[in-house]
Amino acid sequence: MNKRERKKFEKLLLEIREQKVAYIAMLRELAISRTQRDASGDISAFTSHPADISNESDEREKVASLITRESEILKELDAALERINDATYGKCDICGGDIPPARLRALPFATLCVKCQTEAEKG
Ligand SMILES: [Zn+2]
Repeated sequence: MNKRERKKFEKLLLEIREQKVAYIAMLRELAISRTQRDASGDISAFTSHPADISNESDEREKVASLITRESEILKELDAALERINDATYGKCDICGGDIPPARLRALPFATLCVKCQTEAEKG
């Protein structure tokens, strides 16, 4: 991959990264506001139907697992940006071959080519 192509992917990665950072911040705020409402002993928690309460904790878990998942993606994005800096971006981690640009556009932080990814998933 040449420098110009790397620059293009760097821009794409930074854009996605920015969106993820904003999204995670929003999720964290959501988690905090829910926790605070619980801590303040919101009366509605006592008057609502038990099903609603379990929905709320389901939702809290959902938000927590979303934060974890999005944070993982953020780490992947940072790692991809590092690979752009040391010019190894777009190379397969296993076979060292080029990852096709079409695949990188769909999954900009891919570290394996399709063949190696398939092999890795097979175990
Ligand atoms: Zn490969």
